Amino acid sequence: MNAADNTPKRSALDAQDIGAHLHPYTNLAAHEDVGPLMITRGDGIHVIDEQGRKYIEGMSALWCSSLGFSHPRLVQAGIDALKTLPYYHTFNHRSNPAIAQLADRLIQLAPAPMAKVFFANSGSEANDTAIKIIWYYHNAIGKPAKKKILSRQRGYHGVTVAAASLTGLPANHQDFDLPIARIGHVECPHHYRYANPGESEADFATRLADALEQRILQEGPDTVAAFIAEPVMGAGGVIVPPETYFEKIQAVLRKYEVLMVADEVICGFGRTGQMFGSHTFGIQPDILTCAKALSSGYVPISAVMVAPKIYEAMAANSGKIGTFGHGYTYSGHPVAAAVALETLKVYEDEQILAHVNQLSPLFQGRLRGYLDRAYVGEVRGVGMIGAIELVADEATRQPFDPALKLGYRLAQYAQEAGLIVRAMGDAVALCPPLIITEAEMAEMFARLDRALDKLQATLP
Ligand code: PMP
Repeated sequence: MNAADNTPKRSALDAQDIGAHLHPYTNLAAHEDVGPLMITRGDGIHVIDEQGRKYIEGMSALWCSSLGFSHPRLVQAGIDALKTLPYYHTFNHRSNPAIAQLADRLIQLAPAPMAKVFFANSGSEANDTAIKIIWYYHNAIGKPAKKKILSRQRGYHGVTVAAASLTGLPANHQDFDLPIARIGHVECPHHYRYANPGESEADFATRLADALEQRILQEGPDTVAAFIAEPVMGAGGVIVPPETYFEKIQAVLRKYEVLMVADEVICGFGRTGQMFGSHTFGIQPDILTCAKALSSGYVPISAVMVAPKIYEAMAANSGKIGTFGHGYTYSGHPVAAAVALETLKVYEDEQILAHVNQLSPLFQGRLRGYLDRAYVGEVRGVGMIGAIELVADEATRQPFDPALKLGYRLAQYAQEAGLIVRAMGDAVALCPPLIITEAEMAEMFARLDRALDKLQATLP
C-alpha cells in the first residue's frame, strides 16, 4: 500500500515489522520496500489498517473468518475460557469440558461414520497427523509395506515437512528439498485447463480415475496407503471437481484398499453450502482433517477425524506399545476448544448453512457475470467460494505472460478499492465471510468491478 501511495514516511510499527519480522509467504526482499499492510482491527466482514482504511475481507483472511472479525459470542467464549482455565493439556488421559464436547459434536457432524477426533493447532499439523496415523494404522494391521500417499498436483495441504510434501505446488518444494519419499502426485482435476478439446466433465473424470488406477498398479497396490484431496482445491486455484470425479476416484480407492482422506481445512463448516465439502461432493472419507472455520480463525485449532476401523487398530496397537506416541502440547487447548465449540453453536443458532444457500446463487451469479468481460476466461466456484481467471485469449485459453503479474495487479487494484482478494497466478479468489449480507456482497462486487475496470484499462 505504502509503495502504491508513495507514502514517504514509515510508522514506527512498520519499521519494526520490516526490521524484525520474517514473514510467511512473502517476497522477503520486496518486503523491505513494500512494507506491511498493518491490520489493527476487525469489524464484521471488514478489517481496518493503521491509517484507518477499511477493507472488505473478501478472502475471510486465509479462508478462515467465516463469522467475520468481531463476533461477540466468540469473543466472550474466549474471555470466559481464559478466566476459567487458560491452559491445560490432554496427554495421558487428561481432558477438559470444552474439548470433550467439541469432539462429540464433530463426530455428530461428520460426513461419514467417525470414531474419534484428534486435535492439533493448524491444518498442516492435522495433515501431518493424518500421515502418521495412516502409517501407524498400516503397521498395526500388519501391512508395513502399504505406506505411499497420493496427493494431487495443485493440491494444498500445508507446509510442515510432510504436509508440504503432500502439497502439489512448486514453490512449496523448490529449494526445500521436498517432497519426501513415499508421497506422489496425480493429475489436477481442473477441467478448463487440463481436459482434452471437447472432453466432457464426466469423461475427464473417467480419464483421471483411470490414470489414478494405473498409478496405483504401477506403484504396486500393496504399497499405496492413502489418497488425500480437498473437496474443492483452494490455494491451488479454487478448483471445483468435474462431475462424477469423486465417485469414480473412490471406486478405484476401494478396489485397492486405499484410504480416502478429505482435507476439509477450507471446505469444512459450510463453505460449499453443506457442513462439509464431503457432503457436497459425495465423499466418504476414512480420515477427515479440518481447521480454519472450525474456530472461524479466532484461535488456532485443527482436528483429525478417524473412521472406526482405523481407530480400532490404533487402539489395539497403542495398547501393546503402551501409548499412542503422538500429540502436541496444545492438542485440545481449552481456550481454542471453547471458542470452536461456540463457533459450531453459532453456525447452528444463526442458521449459517441456510444463509449460505440463500446467498450463494447471488454470489455465484455475480461471479459468472464476469464472463461477459474481456479477458475473463473462466469463472468457477460453489457455495461461497469462487475464482475468476484472466486469460490473454478467451478462445484458445492462452494465459497471459506471467511476467505481467495480472492476478497480483488485480488484487492490488482491489485493495486500493477497499477489497481484499487473493491472487493465484492470473486467477483471483473470493471466499468472503459466510455472514456477509446481500448489501455487503453488492458492495464487494462493486469494488471488484472498479478493480477490473482499472486493470482492463491497462490491457490492449
Ligand atoms: N489444507 C488446506 C486445504 C489449506 O487450505 C491449508 C491452509 N491454507 C492447509 C491445509 C494448511 O493449514 P495451516 O496453514 O493452518 O497449516
